[in-house]
Amino acid sequence: MTNVDTLDARYHPWRHLGQRYPNIRVIYTDHLPAKTPARHDGRIIWLSTDLDQAARRSRIAHTIVHLQQHQHCSPGGEFVADTTAAYRLIGLPDLIDAYQRHPHGSITKLAAHLWVDEHTLAHRLATLDPIETAELEHHTNGTWTPPTLGSGNSR
Ligand SMILES: [Zn+2]
Repeated sequence: MTNVDTLDARYHPWRHLGQRYPNIRVIYTDHLPAKTPARHDGRIIWLSTDLDQAARRSRIAHTIVHLQQHQHCSPGGEFVADTTAAYRLIGLPDLIDAYQRHPHGSITKLAAHLWVDEHTLAHRLATLDPIETAELEHHTNGTWTPPTLGSGNSR
């Protein structure tokens, strides 16, 4: 059961894009370079046709941060874009809810529950502040442990 109020309070990247950037077009393409899920030039956002729905909304949220900062994907801007998008997409109550429903769940399972891609969830977990960590521990009766994120740091 999902609380409707909770759903409505959630961040909607597509709605944000449409309302704030109505002139930006989104184009699905299978011509992006390998390992490039999305691109934008300030007028057009290209999304890879390989992305599922959760990945598309994650990339749109990420790209909105770049648009707000008037920058393209660059090493310096990636951390900010990833962090901001992750915080917008995954509120702490959502994260607590995911852990309560999937104790010791894999990052794949948790990301699916949160309707984001694994990259976004991994970044959210990697940037939890101490108060959020304490909240998670409290609401999961101390059973909370961060899932194994694999060896690669996503930057
Ligand atoms: Zn980027």
